[in-house]
Amino acid sequence: MEQAAIPIAEQVREVVQAAMEALRVPASEDLSPSAAANSFEAEALRCEIIKVGRKLWDRQYVDGNGGNISVRLGQKYLLCTPTMLSKGDLEPADICLSDLEGNILAGDRPRTSELLLHLEIYKANPRARAVLHCHPPYATAFAITGTVPPVGLIPEYEIFIGPAAVTRYETPGTQAFAETVLPFVHDHNTILLANHGIVCWSDTVTHAEWLAEILDTYCKTCLIAQQIGKPLTVIPDEKIQELLAIKRRMGFPDARMARLSEPSCPAPAANADLDRLVEQVVARLEGRG
Ligand SMILES: [Zn+2]
Repeated sequence: MEQAAIPIAEQVREVVQAAMEALRVPASEDLSPSAAANSFEAEALRCEIIKVGRKLWDRQYVDGNGGNISVRLGQKYLLCTPTMLSKGDLEPADICLSDLEGNILAGDRPRTSELLLHLEIYKANPRARAVLHCHPPYATAFAITGTVPPVGLIPEYEIFIGPAAVTRYETPGTQAFAETVLPFVHDHNTILLANHGIVCWSDTVTHAEWLAEILDTYCKTCLIAQQIGKPLTVIPDEKIQELLAIKRRMGFPDARMARLSEPSCPAPAANADLDRLVEQVVARLEGRG
């Protein structure tokens, strides 16, 4: 009796599926602290933190041992900078692994004292995957006056940041200080810390640093423009609405828009990816691709 031949697409599918399964990297939340700290993802994030730390120092947004950076690693962990180290001198071994309660799980150095601030932001807003605190001079100049820069002047600022917020003053490093950001952390990705500096959150460390750059450059431009002695020209309201439409599409928060919900977890794309791979391999085998 002749055995029914298995369609080639089915055979290819089995091979590709087995290969994908063999290559599957466990999610960070499945890992022990030491395995998470030694994962490829952690290694890449440490490199990103070091690169951004260097940018902050080069731009003079951090002074002495000032400033700190953290990033979520899966659902259970985060990586953060240590205390008492210049952000321009970071090495991979300096970066600490912490849980969401601030307990250090891996790393030889004590964590930044401002991790409490970062933790409050992560707990309050799951959209925050990276947090960065620094002391950029022009934005901090506004922060010591307890005021925020005007809005409606430059499109990029409207889209990426928009109306900034300023906290009340509390002693840095304390839980009371960490909680000063809570009223603002949903509608603002960039917050001025009274008599201190700024804090930004974003999806990546690199993007959080962009926010610091955009805010500080905007504050500098506003201060220079005010010295010209002419009235500032504001973007018309209907054009601001166009910018807010772009902002909504890009997923940035803004108190002028309805609050954006946390992005839902991406649907498992495994089947779609698998189908596409099978189609490509079959096409090759049949001489179509
Ligand atoms: Zn600080």
